Amino acid sequence: MKSLIHCRACGNSVSPDARSCPSCGDPVKPKYDGEINMRDPIHLIGVSASVVFIIGLAFWVYSVIITR
Ligand SMILES: [Zn+2]
Repeated sequence: MKSLIHCRACGNSVSPDARSCPSCGDPVKPKYDGEINMRDPIHLIGVSASVVFIIGLAFWVYSVIITR
């Protein structure tokens, strides 16, 4: 069973499958849509920054080892 979401306009419980609130007609978006759109770029920047940092650290450690 899907959990109901709350209408932003009137607070009525709305099915996540519904496109608009049956009570006030305000368009309802599934909760996860906004979260993905807002979080994704930040998430990607964080992941790529971590990858660049780890690769840079690995190269630095490697260059320190081979120059000895
Ligand atoms: Zn509503």
